Amino acid sequence: MTDTLHAAARSFCADSPIAYLLELVDQHGDSPSEEEQRQDAEMAAAHHVYGVYGVSLAQVVGADDWQGYPAVTDEGTRHWEASAVAWLDGGLWLHHTLLITEADGAANVLTLIVPCTCGRGYIDIRLETEEHLMEVLSDFRPTAGLSPHDERDPDDCTSITAEPHSRTVDAWR
Ligand SMILES: [Zn+2]
Repeated sequence: MTDTLHAAARSFCADSPIAYLLELVDQHGDSPSEEEQRQDAEMAAAHHVYGVYGVSLAQVVGADDWQGYPAVTDEGTRHWEASAVAWLDGGLWLHHTLLITEADGAANVLTLIVPCTCGRGYIDIRLETEEHLMEVLSDFRPTAGLSPHDERDPDDCTSITAEPHSRTVDAWR
């Protein structure tokens, strides 16, 4: 902001639309508190699940089941948006956050976190649709909710993301 802009005389009434909007921007300028970020994260997660997973997750994961966490900036270098997690029992979790990019705006990122049968780690699977969730779960039914350890790719259960094995996807279809 330059001094010229600051010095500009106000040319609208105090109760005009633009006055209201500028006031809104002022309030919005304050970064939301951690509590507000938590609540927003919980609401965004619940909203996404109700909207996309209506016959599955929405039946068992209610709005109150989400625990929100504020955004984290790691020494100013990396930034994680606020997120929320929901406990599914058996070592499984859901994790939800928003991926914010200039091109796409805010995109929902819902991840299923599943313990590996080897006991050393977890598999993270980014869920795309309800059908995709069903495909993923069919993979874990024989192992009662654990992700079968992949001997050919022992690092799989410590990686950040993993796609479901294509053979299972084919079998489900
Ligand atoms: Zn493993």
